[in-house]
Amino acid sequence: MLITDITAKTDRYNLHSHTQFCDGHAPMEAMARAAADRGMLHYGFSPHSPICVESGANMSRENVKPYLDEVDRLKSSSIELPQLYTGMEIDFVSVDFGPHIDYFQRLPLDYRIGSVHFVPNQDGIPVDCDGSSERFIRYLKEVFADDLRYVVEKYFEQVLTMLERGGFDMLGHLDKIAQNASVADPEIERQPWYESLIDDVVSHAKTANVVVEINTKYINEKGRFFPHEQWWQKLKEAKLPIAVNSDAHWPEKVEEGRAQAFEKLDASGFGFPLKQ
Ligand SMILES: [Zn+2]
Ligand SMILES: [Zn+2]
Repeated sequence: MLITDITAKTDRYNLHSHTQFCDGHAPMEAMARAAADRGMLHYGFSPHSPICVESGANMSRENVKPYLDEVDRLKSSSIELPQLYTGMEIDFVSVDFGPHIDYFQRLPLDYRIGSVHFVPNQDGIPVDCDGSSERFIRYLKEVFADDLRYVVEKYFEQVLTMLERGGFDMLGHLDKIAQNASVADPEIERQPWYESLIDDVVSHAKTANVVVEINTKYINEKGRFFPHEQWWQKLKEAKLPIAVNSDAHWPEKVEEGRAQAFEKLDASGFGFPLKQ
């Protein structure tokens, strides 16, 4: 598999990054040049996919062709760049819309990341639970009837269904909901029911045969990896292949948090290269 071929050989890669076609803050060429400047050998673009709901962060279907063309242009350019890959971070919204649907399966991508950002509320309306914690707390009260456990369980249900449907290579930030849920309840990750949801994700990821991402985007800003470090031992015990990605939206962030993650992985006995 492309991703494990890379992660088995080197730590000089980043396979989760955003572009001008979604909510990235620099042209793809600037991101790739920044990666080259930092000695990266492999760099994958993964814009937020087109989506079936209103979302300012996602790319439009009309922009998919220009995106693919731009990666092709950079792949064949004479500029000294890392090996480039055409990825996409595909939102799972429901069984009718996710990485598994024909539309995404037919796109000529090098790999697909499956991620959940939207959680259906009690009326089935998908709500963006990513964003700022202030906004999340407001949504929690206004559209989720102040039921935090519902939101968290529903988020993980989405992740599990996405894994069951498949159609992607790498599971993006598997516990991203914890970023906001832990603001609403700092004890939430200590609850046995929460831990059993993580166990379910780990076993589903194993069955789905996907790479699990260690997302390092917020380790400096918010003090946590996704998944949280407390769950890494479960990944190790399950012998899940992992990849360490910065989820960069800015050129200066292409390496954000990756060195810290590799240090901790090493200290946790994962060893290097990551061969699981
Ligand atoms: Zn994401
Ligand atoms: Zn992302």
